[in-house]
Amino acid sequence: MKIIINGAAGRMGQALRTSVAEGFRAAEVAALVDRFAAEGDILPSLSDFDGEADVIIDFTNHAATEELCEYAVKRSLPVVIATTGHTPEELEIIKTAARSVPVFHSANMSLGVAVLCDLTRRAVRMFPEADIEIVEAHHNRKLDAPSGTALMLADSVLAERSASRLVYGRAGQAKREKDEIGIHAIRMGNVVGEHTVYVSTDTQILTLSHSAQSRSVFAEGALVAAEYVISKESGVYRMDDVLRG
Ligand code: NAD
Repeated sequence: MKIIINGAAGRMGQALRTSVAEGFRAAEVAALVDRFAAEGDILPSLSDFDGEADVIIDFTNHAATEELCEYAVKRSLPVVIATTGHTPEELEIIKTAARSVPVFHSANMSLGVAVLCDLTRRAVRMFPEADIEIVEAHHNRKLDAPSGTALMLADSVLAERSASRLVYGRAGQAKREKDEIGIHAIRMGNVVGEHTVYVSTDTQILTLSHSAQSRSVFAEGALVAAEYVISKESGVYRMDDVLRG
């Protein structure tokens, strides 16, 4: 499997290059691309590469979505979008591209978080009266808040409680209402990614938690996703699909 790595100079791009160099899933680099760090063997734009490739893996910035999707469709290449923080317009662009090519889109490439989403749904179903609060922590260079993963977890809650609404942090006079799903973002140091869902009744608290120990969990997950998506028809795929096999 030959991969175009978009965002090759970034934290995740580098983690991905390391996993490939270590031989994970026998992946090979087709091209390295990074808009803001063109140097050495890194190309400044996807359009600079027309060589052989099987899949694109994107760990860049949501603003890259249009160019990424245009390139994937033009070259009929499957794409793994691991970038987070997309606007509603960019999500539409992704959906449109998925009519032509297979698109694997997940804000979190770890299998552990896919399990956490599943457990969250089950817990929310079991405790319909519970207060739900989601807390995430990341390193101090992260651009978007709350994290895409926290929003994925919120979607898992909303799947069971469609009448609830998201409340981002609280300050001042902010008494909790029953229909709130609280989301809180902590930014500090070098934290790779921590996500906790609290499911609290008045008599017990169920705490569901995932802690990424290294960026390689996302890099390897993205490679598993790439392997999964290259044999698929056009459409949108998620980690759930991989878990189901
Ligand atoms: P980073 O800032 O370290 O790296 C991003 C890289 O993308 C930079 O080198 C930058 O120059 C490059 N870039 C930005 N815009 C570009 C464009 N238009 N075209 C090509 N390259 C471009 O960030 P990071 O920590 O590596 O994270 C990258 C993205 O991946 C973020 O959105 C982050 O939230 C997301 N992320 C997702 C997962 C997951 O499991 N899905 C895990 C970690 C990070």
